[in-house]
Amino acid sequence: MPRMLDVSDEVRAEIGDEEADRLLAGETAPGSYDCTSCRTPGDSEQERTSTVLFIGDETAVLAFATPAVCPRRSSRSPRSSSRAP
Ligand SMILES: [Zn+2]
Repeated sequence: MPRMLDVSDEVRAEIGDEEADRLLAGETAPGSYDCTSCRTPGDSEQERTSTVLFIGDETAVLAFATPAVCPRRSSRSPRSSSRAP
């Protein structure tokens, strides 16, 4: 089932068209998720979802956010938010 994902051009450039298309097709995207920023539960099958890419030293981690709660922001982050809960 297709996902209502908002993949920005920046994110698409980083992960590539193939991966971006797989995400949008729902092959590699989660259904429900917790917003990476505010931890609000979301469901990419039901509502629009923003993709956020955290660029690390060696890896890029794709995360999901609720655009209604968290306004659009840069897909690049100087450092990933890896603080413990
Ligand atoms: Zn949020």
